[in-house]
Amino acid sequence: MPRLARYLTGIVPTQLSLLVLWIAVWELAGLMEYANHASVWYPPSALSIAAFLLLGQRAILPITLAIVAVTFQTATQYALPHTTLQLIEAGLLNAAAHILPYWLTGFVIRYQRIRYEHHFTLVILTVLVITPLMTLAATGLTMLSLWFTDMLPFSDIADTWLPFWIGDLTGALALGPMFLGVISAVTSSSLHLLDDPVLRPQQLMSWHFSFRILISVSCILAAMLLASFFNNSHAVFAIFFLVIPHMWIAITEPPFSNATSVAIASLLIAILIPALGLMEHALVYQFAICVVAANSLFGLAIPTLLQHNRDLRQIVATDSLTGVASRERLVRKAMAQLNRTKVQGIPLSAVVFDIDHFKQINDQLGHSEGDKALQQVTIAAQLCLRPCDLLGRFGGDEFVAILPGANQSQAEEISERIRSRVTQLMTSGGGHLSASFGVAQSVTDDTFNSLFERADSALYRAKQAGRNQVMLAPVPEQIIS
Ligand code: GH3
Ligand code: MG
Repeated sequence: MPRLARYLTGIVPTQLSLLVLWIAVWELAGLMEYANHASVWYPPSALSIAAFLLLGQRAILPITLAIVAVTFQTATQYALPHTTLQLIEAGLLNAAAHILPYWLTGFVIRYQRIRYEHHFTLVILTVLVITPLMTLAATGLTMLSLWFTDMLPFSDIADTWLPFWIGDLTGALALGPMFLGVISAVTSSSLHLLDDPVLRPQQLMSWHFSFRILISVSCILAAMLLASFFNNSHAVFAIFFLVIPHMWIAITEPPFSNATSVAIASLLIAILIPALGLMEHALVYQFAICVVAANSLFGLAIPTLLQHNRDLRQIVATDSLTGVASRERLVRKAMAQLNRTKVQGIPLSAVVFDIDHFKQINDQLGHSEGDKALQQVTIAAQLCLRPCDLLGRFGGDEFVAILPGANQSQAEEISERIRSRVTQLMTSGGGHLSASFGVAQSVTDDTFNSLFERADSALYRAKQAGRNQVMLAPVPEQIIS
């Protein structure tokens, strides 16, 4: 019983909402019908794909009921002489013709999404290949179903299939991502599928998004008013300029804003076609919406790729154990600091230090105790450094600190402070830690490597001299400052 209750409170409201929404968007498509059975864009195809993608077979029942319901309305609209039973049969057949290809679309996209988890662009490519194919399949099956149930004369199929198909395709590409975001937000639990590309609604009405939408709307109005005013079939193609603001939106806005902008643009175009008497050019506008939507779909991958890039940069730049700069970041930053201090004419020193007998800690107390020692030494060093200093782990138990503005004796003082702090640290075995230090100050033609080598040789001498001490590199002739 609790399971049934959970089921009823969980999925039934979702299914009911889907049923109502499906009929609502079907009505919307009806308002934009420019030929029998053909709308400028057909939102139900987008809603079905999004629903099958996110809810799987749980979307079958509400969509079937919705299609049976709209079959009755179509019969009234076209004054068809069918009985109730015949209409139920026709509705079920139409539902099968619609559901089969769109369920398959959802299944394939979901499969690809799981299989190519880290290749979002491949998933987008799948969407762009499968959507035209499956909308075509849905068109063919629906035409057959309408003909078989005497709702469409066979002779009308030749004129109807193309606008019918393009309407479905336009709807699927232009509105699918937005429906995906909306259903994902409403039924959050089942939608781990979308975690990565963050298609969920975020803050939509930022001023820059509104500004970009304004540009898109102005572009549509200008292109369509122009076409209507000149009544010239060439002017109709001006609508393809819409790709530019939408590529801009795709690369600068979050995915849901991107999807919403395409939905708004396609709705406006669909409204303006009959309003401005551009019905004979409907196919051009439909293709324009498809092109804009396909481009924007690829744009969905951009924020994901940027986020992956940021994550990778963060991984490469940080030493995961101690949280200080990695070797790569340290070298890069040290080179920049060297150049800056050379220009400013101020000194810069490098301190290289290494924990004494670190291997023993690992061998006697275990690797995790060794890790703890590395973390403790990092904290001790950080406490002695200024915010402008840079600390990095060079490898193993060896660290490098870059001290801009510090000459060799100041760097020696700082190293002594770190050394003294490290000697206060204890391992779980009761032994005290210690470290040896090499200090070098930069000279005019130093590179990071030459500076490091001098500090490292000083460190080597500190080890040779008995460890737990600071050694200075010999001062070359041309010291800065
Ligand atoms: P010395 O006083 O001459 O420096 O002797 P040492 O025993 O410290 O020798 P060395 O500096 O060469 O030892 C480095 C050791 O650090 C070897 C390696 O097993 C260990 N090590 C390297 N990376 C890690 C790490 O991430 N965690 C732990 N626990 N050990 C590490
Ligand atoms: Mg060591």
